[in-house]
Amino acid sequence: MSTDHLNIEFKLHPVPNRLLTRNPPPHVNSIEQYKKLYEESIKNPTEFWGKLANELLTWHTPFKTVLSGGFEYGDVTWFREGQLNASYNCLDRHAIINPDKVALIYEADEPDQGRKITYRELLHDVCRFANVLKAHGVRKGDIITIYMPMVPEAAIALLACARLGAVHSVVFAGFSSDSLRNRILDASSKFVITANEGRRGGKTIHTKKIIDEALTECPGVKRVFVFRRTDSSVPFSSPRDVWWHDEIEKQRPYCPPEIVNAEDPLFMIYTSGSTGKPKGVLHATGGYLLSVVANLKYVFDYHEGDIFGCMTDIGWAVGHNFIVYGPLTNGGTALLFESTPIYPTPSRYWEIVAKHKITQFFTAPTAIRLLRKFGREYVDSHDLSSLRVIISAGEPINPDVWEWYNEVVGRNVCSVVDNYWQTETGSIILAPFPGATAIKPGSATFPFFGIDIAILDPETGEEIKTTEAEGILAIRQPWPSIARTIYNDHNRYLNTYLRPYKGYYFTSDGVGRDRDGYYWIRGRVDDVINVSGHRLSTSEIESALLMHPATAEAAAIGVDSELKGQCVHTFVNLKSDHDIEIDDLVSQVRESIGPFAAPEKIYFVNDLPKTRSGKIMRRVLKKIVDGQTDSIGDLSTLANPEIVNILIEKVKHS
Ligand code: ATP
Ligand code: MG
Repeated sequence: MSTDHLNIEFKLHPVPNRLLTRNPPPHVNSIEQYKKLYEESIKNPTEFWGKLANELLTWHTPFKTVLSGGFEYGDVTWFREGQLNASYNCLDRHAIINPDKVALIYEADEPDQGRKITYRELLHDVCRFANVLKAHGVRKGDIITIYMPMVPEAAIALLACARLGAVHSVVFAGFSSDSLRNRILDASSKFVITANEGRRGGKTIHTKKIIDEALTECPGVKRVFVFRRTDSSVPFSSPRDVWWHDEIEKQRPYCPPEIVNAEDPLFMIYTSGSTGKPKGVLHATGGYLLSVVANLKYVFDYHEGDIFGCMTDIGWAVGHNFIVYGPLTNGGTALLFESTPIYPTPSRYWEIVAKHKITQFFTAPTAIRLLRKFGREYVDSHDLSSLRVIISAGEPINPDVWEWYNEVVGRNVCSVVDNYWQTETGSIILAPFPGATAIKPGSATFPFFGIDIAILDPETGEEIKTTEAEGILAIRQPWPSIARTIYNDHNRYLNTYLRPYKGYYFTSDGVGRDRDGYYWIRGRVDDVINVSGHRLSTSEIESALLMHPATAEAAAIGVDSELKGQCVHTFVNLKSDHDIEIDDLVSQVRESIGPFAAPEKIYFVNDLPKTRSGKIMRRVLKKIVDGQTDSIGDLSTLANPEIVNILIEKVKHS
C-alpha cells in the first residue's frame, strides 16, 4: 500500500484563526500542548486518568486502583473500588446548580413541533420514569431493550435505566421485527421500552406493530412500556403492555440513584454489522463515562454555553456518546433530531443550525455525500456563523468530501474533526484537536489521550516501528472505555479482539502512518485488495473516484484474477446531472494512484448496499461479483435489501 495515500499535494489546513483568537481559548491550543498531554497519558496512564476521573466525574465512593488487568485474559478494570451513578453525573449535579439551563433540544420531525427541556425538567422526567420501572420490578443489572423513535423520552429511558443501575440495550428503531427479536433474546430482556408509532421524514413508522411481531417469540418479556408519540391507537395486550403517560402520573419526580460499581455495566450495544453478525458489546459505567466526557471536552472543544448538534440516532454508539452521555455529563445542551437531512428539504440541517445556534455539528460521511449530491445551494443561504467545530465519523471521509464539508458547511473558518473509533472502543481512537492540529483532509490525524497505537505487519504480527508504516491498526494498552466483553460470549470477545495479535487490541482496520506521523484509515483489513503484489485499500480507490466531479458515491472491492491475483471492481453512483464515460473514471484512478490500481470494471448504480447506520457493505458487493449470492451472509443490518437483486442483475448483464 502506498504511504502517500494519493498522488496529490495535500493542502495542509492549519487551525482556523477564529479558534485560536477566541475567548475562552480552546482547551488544547497548540500541537505542543497536545503532544505533552498525550505523552503523559501514555507514560503514566494511572496518574493521567486518575486525575481526569476526579476532575470530570462525581464519585460516590472514591476509587483506589485506576487500572488493573489487561489484554491477556480480557480482565481489564478501571477505577475498580469506585462507585458512582451515571444519571447523577448527567443530571443532578447540573440541575442543582443550574436547573433552568436547557439540557435537551428536541427538534421534531415537523420543524415547528419541537421543544426544549431544562435540567430540572429532565431530572424530574427521568426520576418519574425510573420510579415507573422500579414499580414494575426493574432491578439493578436487568437488561432493558429500548426500541424508540428519536423523541426526548428515548433519552429519558436510557437515563432512567442508568438511574436504577439497569443495563440498557438500545436497538435502532429502523430494525425489522426479526432483528429486534434476536437482540431481545440475545440479551434475555424481560422489559422493553417503546412507542406506539414513530415519525420520520413525514412518514409513520409502526413501532408497536414491529414490537408485537418480535414478541410473539419472546416469552421472557414481562412488561412493555409504550410512549404515545402519535394519536393513533395500537393493539394493546394487558397486562404486558402499559402506557408511559398513565404510569408516570403515579410517580414522584425524584428517585434516589442506585449507586453502582465503576465496573458495573452501563449498557450493551450491538455493532453495525458491516462485516458480519453484529456483536453485543458491554460497556462499564466509570471508564465509559470518563472517556466520553473527555472526548467531548477535548476533541470537540466543548465549552459552557455550546449547543451540541449530533444528527445521529440514539440507537448507535455515536448517539449514546454524543447525544446523551457526553453532552449531559459535561452539563451541556444537546440536540435530539427526529427527522432526516432531507425532510422537508435538503436544507433541514442548516435550518436547525441557524435556529438553535449550533456550535458543534456532527454527522456521518453518508449524509455529507448525500447533501453534496444535492448541491451547495441548499446550504449557502443559511446563517451558519454559530458553527465552530464540524464533525464526521463512521466511515472514512474521502478528501474531496472533506473539502466540500470544510468549504460549504464550515465556510473555511471551522475546525473539521474526522474522528475514528468503534462501538467496541467506546470512544474516540483518532481525531484532531480543534485548537491544536493542522489537518490533512482524509486523515483522522493523531491518537486521543491514552490510545497507544501500534501498526502491525499483517503476516508476521510484528510491530512496524518506522514512522512511515502500513499495516494493521492495533492498540497496545487498555483505555477507560474499552468494551469489557461481548454479552454472554467472552470467548468470542477474546477471539475477535484480543487473541489475533497477542498483547494488542485488534481493530481489524488497516492503517497507514505517513512521514509526518498522520494516520490514514485504509478500510477493513479483510477488504484490502492485492493487485500484482500492490496492496491497495478500498478507501484509497474510492477517494480517487470521488475526486471526479461526477461521482457521488463509490465502493471498491477486490475480485480474484488469474493474472494479477486480484483486480479492482468498483461501483459508482453518479450525481444526477452528470453523464460520463467509464474511461474518465479509470484515468482518474490511474492518475491519482497508479496504473496498477485502474479498475477492471466499473458498474454504474443508483445506490449501494448500506447498513442502517449508513455504511457501505462491501462484503455484499463482493459476494455478488463472486457469484456467491446463496452465501451472502447476515443481511439483518442491511438498510436497503431491495438493492441486492438490482445489483445481481446489473453485474450479470455487464
Ligand atoms: P461490525 O463490527 O458489526 O462489522 P462496524 O465495524 O461497521 O460493524 P461500528 O462499530 O459502527 O461497526 O463501526 C466501526 C468501524 O467503522 C471502524 O472499525 C471503521 O472501519 C469504520 N470507521 C468509523 N469511523 C471512521 C472514520 N472516521 N474513518 C474511517 N473509518 C471509520
Ligand atoms: Mg466493527
